[in-house]
Amino acid sequence: MSTKQVLIFVEQEDGCARPVAFELLGAGRMLANKLGAELAAFVACDSVGELPETLVAHGADRVYVAEHPELATYRTLPYRRVLIDLIAAMDTPPHIVLFGSTTTGRDLAPRIAAYFETGLTADCTELDIGPYEHTNAQDPSKVGLYPDCLYAIRPSFGESLKARILGPWKNPQMATVRSGVMVPLAPDATRTGVVQSVPVHLESADLQLVVAETLRSLGEQVELQGAEVIVSGGYGLGNPEGFALMYQLAACFENSAVGSSRKAVDAGWIAHAHQVGQTGKTVRPKLYIACGISGAIQHRVGMDKSATIVAINKDSNAPIFKFAHHGIVGDLHQVIPELIRQLKLQ
Ligand code: FAD
Repeated sequence: MSTKQVLIFVEQEDGCARPVAFELLGAGRMLANKLGAELAAFVACDSVGELPETLVAHGADRVYVAEHPELATYRTLPYRRVLIDLIAAMDTPPHIVLFGSTTTGRDLAPRIAAYFETGLTADCTELDIGPYEHTNAQDPSKVGLYPDCLYAIRPSFGESLKARILGPWKNPQMATVRSGVMVPLAPDATRTGVVQSVPVHLESADLQLVVAETLRSLGEQVELQGAEVIVSGGYGLGNPEGFALMYQLAACFENSAVGSSRKAVDAGWIAHAHQVGQTGKTVRPKLYIACGISGAIQHRVGMDKSATIVAINKDSNAPIFKFAHHGIVGDLHQVIPELIRQLKLQ
């Protein structure tokens, strides 16, 4: 295989791709088009079912499938082994390899980067391709113009700066990508692609750790990233009971979820799974209602791509009013019950 490739790692659960896989396909398609490259997806599982066709419909030109009973759920060493074997067997390594910036991606990506002695930029929010002229290398053989570099862009210094990070001048160039940021392609069932089985050779050392049982949380499922409407509460709620009002307002909309600021999470008012922002989730719902949230940059980066932002805050100078589409200045304990009453009349 000598075609230039962008390769994405597909996280799957019970044979279904996680949302971040579709986001990576969206980002990978854009990079592949700029490079004139093929977009490939790699999936490891015990039984792949119709997942390859789904990945092709979402933009993949080629799907590498590693099928083996030991690959049913993610485990570091077997997954590391099959992905390294796949890349090492290629005539030329992929130009770029992308992972989600998830628990799995953060575990696997550095191990692949370390094996191939290449760089890895973590938690990117933008990706691009461009040239770089290297003029001051200690090794003169490295001085020169490098075309087609991966510009891996990520927030730095508490989200106040965007850093454009270039890795070492070798392929694969690698990045993990923040989930909820990249836009998936609309599926197109008429797209065609190649599905290719890859050999799986696991060694006993890869299998020493076994998954005895997978326990799914019985706690509340927080589907923030798929929600069309998010009602988010901040420290201005005043106490944990304030979130009852958030749930009442959210219940006025279909496909809604409750989010929060970090300060409300840190106060112990709500679980971290609800947190939106730099150290929480990135969301882009159709409607984001921020209640008693000041609009700090670390919160803003997680929600400012929302189609419509409504802010309710008693302080007319709160930063959130600078980027909200609609603002209500007032005490949320008066505004929200009235809002709920009006919505119920609709
Ligand atoms: P506050 O800043 O205290 O704002 C409360 C707001 O409520 C005020 O604007 C006030 O006017 C309003 N208010 C008070 N009472 C009422 C009322 N009765 N009616 C209406 N309005 C009222 N934050 C995040 O949210 N997500 C993150 O992921 C995140 N990550 C971070 C990472 C780092 C490294 C750091 C340093 C910080 C991070 N933060 C994050 C924290 C962030 O800087 C802010 O401290 C936090 O977002 C503030 O939360 P808040 O807006 O709820 O609280």
